[in-house]
Amino acid sequence: MIIDCHGHYTTAPRQHEGWRTEQIAAHTAGKPPPPRPTMTDDEIRETIVGGQLKVQRERGTDLTIFSPRAAGMGHHLGDATTSEAWASACNELIHRVCSLFPKNFIGVGMLPQSARVSPRNCLAEIDRCVGEYGFVGINLNPDPSGGHWQDPPLSDRHWYPVYEKMVEHDIPAMIHVSASCNPTHHTTGSHYLNGDTAGFNQLMTSSVFKDFPTIKFIIPHGGGAVPYHWGRFRGLAQDAKLGLLSEIVLKNIFFDTCVYHLPGQELLAKVIPVDNIIFASEMIGAVRGIDPETGHHYDDTKRYIEQLPLSVDDKAKIFEGNARRVYGRLSATIEKQSARAV
Ligand SMILES: [Zn+2]
Repeated sequence: MIIDCHGHYTTAPRQHEGWRTEQIAAHTAGKPPPPRPTMTDDEIRETIVGGQLKVQRERGTDLTIFSPRAAGMGHHLGDATTSEAWASACNELIHRVCSLFPKNFIGVGMLPQSARVSPRNCLAEIDRCVGEYGFVGINLNPDPSGGHWQDPPLSDRHWYPVYEKMVEHDIPAMIHVSASCNPTHHTTGSHYLNGDTAGFNQLMTSSVFKDFPTIKFIIPHGGGAVPYHWGRFRGLAQDAKLGLLSEIVLKNIFFDTCVYHLPGQELLAKVIPVDNIIFASEMIGAVRGIDPETGHHYDDTKRYIEQLPLSVDDKAKIFEGNARRVYGRLSATIEKQSARAV
């Protein structure tokens, strides 16, 4: 089985994002939000059959761990109330996709975060995502201010209520920022990769893994700059007398394979142990074009993994085994949703 651990619903029916625009406009004008739009099952089906499901079939992948559009989370917009309503609408929509295509999509939730608001706000939505929707993870935004970094680092106890909830439900978090509202940071070109790198560094220098020995985080986009600069991080850990980097982070931190060229994948697989790499493509998402050097889509990351000089067993870990291990509820959810599909 080939499990893609990182996909977003970037093709949602137009009225979904339309409502978000109206919601924020109403908030700015001091008015109540308009009623939520109606979306039929057929409308949702159409966006998936012609979108993510089509790409799954073309590329030969089986299952996508699926979450709301990341840049659309927009935690810097509105306030805690608008974030709550928006997260609720987005997660409900993911649940509908997973119910319509139970063999192909399993959900991950976005959180109703807001800059300088306690993440305690997110706990009820996490409970709903896991308990009612059967989601297997969350996306945690380390910078709800959208590029201004106004909240404490992930090492701070500020975040501990979310960590406690993750351990309680046995769900990992993908460290994933949203859109940048700071013009110095392009959303997918620099803000995403900065968020990955900053999140890793914040966790590496923290006591989070001492306080939560079983907690698991996925650093997306191949880990940002981390694998490329592994020597720097090893040296920083050594200078700070934190111990060996491999011993302090690799039980808890995993890297996905959203790296859009073969040399990058080769480096990732050379530097990071195979047990810590999880297959992902982030399709349909950040980079949609075809690489003229290969004639294939940049985000067709399965092709790169297939070309790596790894054993069949190691590739199976990247494509399936590691995801089942890191997402503690995944195997049971696959069984449950497959049974529903029959
Ligand atoms: Zn993403």
